[in-house]
Amino acid sequence: MNAILPKSLDDFWAVVVYESYGGGTRLLWSPEHHDWLPSNAYGSGFVRMPVPGYEGRPYDDELSGAIALADELLRRRICQRCGLSDLEDHFVAPDVFGTAALYCLQQPDPRVVSSFGGTGTRKHWGSRLGCASVRAKYFTDRDNERYVDYGEGLVASHVRDWEWCARCTGAAGNVACNPEVGDRSPWDYVEEVEGKTHIRRYPYAL
Ligand SMILES: [Zn+2]
Ligand SMILES: [Zn+2]
Repeated sequence: MNAILPKSLDDFWAVVVYESYGGGTRLLWSPEHHDWLPSNAYGSGFVRMPVPGYEGRPYDDELSGAIALADELLRRRICQRCGLSDLEDHFVAPDVFGTAALYCLQQPDPRVVSSFGGTGTRKHWGSRLGCASVRAKYFTDRDNERYVDYGEGLVASHVRDWEWCARCTGAAGNVACNPEVGDRSPWDYVEEVEGKTHIRRYPYAL
């Protein structure tokens, strides 16, 4: 039982975090059981009922990150990406760096894509820094602005249920260790790297 957690976790559509023992197990918060449901050992998704005796818990910083994302959305009153304000229209899951990130239920994030061709049940990083399963399509608009499209962002259920591709998280890990990132968020560094190409991302990811 985990009765001390704030109610905001119950109000999200879903909350997924990594389990702190390492090994890549993910945990889905169950408002019904007030407990963490571990990801299935094989395939995607999570067990449906709490596992007796299972004591896996999230990393503290991911958990506090999820709570902070709820607080921030409630304070702003509106999500700048989807325009909705309720926690139930949003969910939290680890981004490619393993940090708790806010996702919109009805507005896919183009930084989370399937493999080229759509096979497999892994999340890939929609970025030029992603693995070879991520294919970029380039095009130029009428104003000669160049764009790159890594494919549609995955639907919410897949972002919740699928694990990250190990090659993409490995690439992200290399980025995070790069001394040029300094004190910034690695996402700021990625934006800088992508910005240098003068090729805009389509659709634009906030
Ligand atoms: Zn939103
Ligand atoms: Zn990948």
